[in-house]
Amino acid sequence: MRISRLTVWHLTLPLIAPYRFSGGRQRVEALDTTYLRMETDEGLTGWGEGSPWGHAYLPAHGPGIRAGIETLASAVLGRDPRSLAALHEAMDRQLPGHQSAKSVIDIAAWDILGQAAGLPLWQLFGGDAPHPVALNSSISTGTPEEMIARIEAASAKGYRTHSAKLGGADIGGDIARMNAIAEAMPEGESITFDINRAWAPATAIRVLNSVTSRDWVEQPCETLAECAHVAGRVPQPMLLDECCHSFGDHLEAWRLGACEGVKIKPNRLGGLTRCLQVRDFCLSVGWRVHIEDVGGTALADTAAYHLASATPESHRMASWLAHAHLAEDPVPDQGVRNEGGFAAPPTTPGLGVIPDPDRLGTPVAVYKA
Ligand code: MG
Repeated sequence: MRISRLTVWHLTLPLIAPYRFSGGRQRVEALDTTYLRMETDEGLTGWGEGSPWGHAYLPAHGPGIRAGIETLASAVLGRDPRSLAALHEAMDRQLPGHQSAKSVIDIAAWDILGQAAGLPLWQLFGGDAPHPVALNSSISTGTPEEMIARIEAASAKGYRTHSAKLGGADIGGDIARMNAIAEAMPEGESITFDINRAWAPATAIRVLNSVTSRDWVEQPCETLAECAHVAGRVPQPMLLDECCHSFGDHLEAWRLGACEGVKIKPNRLGGLTRCLQVRDFCLSVGWRVHIEDVGGTALADTAAYHLASATPESHRMASWLAHAHLAEDPVPDQGVRNEGGFAAPPTTPGLGVIPDPDRLGTPVAVYKA
């Protein structure tokens, strides 16, 4: 089986409400996402998606994903999509780094591998059933009252785990937000405070030793070294997200004792192949994991949920649904959906999301073998 054609679509999808990151880094009003259809000479077709959630969250951006696919196309066309390690080796030779572009290709190849095997991806990842995954809300930063209202709105939709974005300009404001939100959490619900790297280490140490909350704290500072410095000096359990881009970064985080858990995201790590390696490492060192994608529609969400669903519940934390923030849905009623605070991956072979090209507009690029 050989990859015969790659077709690329660029979608601009408005958010239901503007999303504000911690530290005033970026106000996101619409997502730039890329859809890829991978065709083969044996008639099987796979789909992938990549959206880096704006251009200031990661060192990745939508136009870069499409340029990356253009650069990678000649290394990908003609290869067997089922040979994932060889596919990555060829992509790495053609273009070092640029994991956000490789992720789109990798997801489409896994879709074809699953269809060829007649198995859903969760089973290829080791799962014994399409176990539902608990959902994690994502609470944009604001005043304590605004954030508590957003948490209550998420609770009404079934969410029992929440991720609140912190990291304002003043230390007192963040201490007030953390204390107020922790105090307001309903019985049976839990919260993670995601700083999105907005604090200097000194700020993180001061805030986290001042608050009463012993809830998870995520990515307090910019770099792995800074986060590791903080982790050894605060009482809260630590999650890492944006500073881990490779398997080696996770190994270094473990060596430094920098965290007790991580976010695993295909678009950041280079696809499901790399996420699977990281997931298995995390299980082996006892870390807990949130598995979700950086952004995108239900297509990208579904790819990540196949791996989340196949991860033992003892180590699996809740996953967010990026598509729940979007005002438009290019794959209506397909893939993972919020069902009472949980979402389960499809049981059909492969990814289980098949976009209708007529809904996607005119492709921006076509590459042929
Ligand atoms: Mg995060």
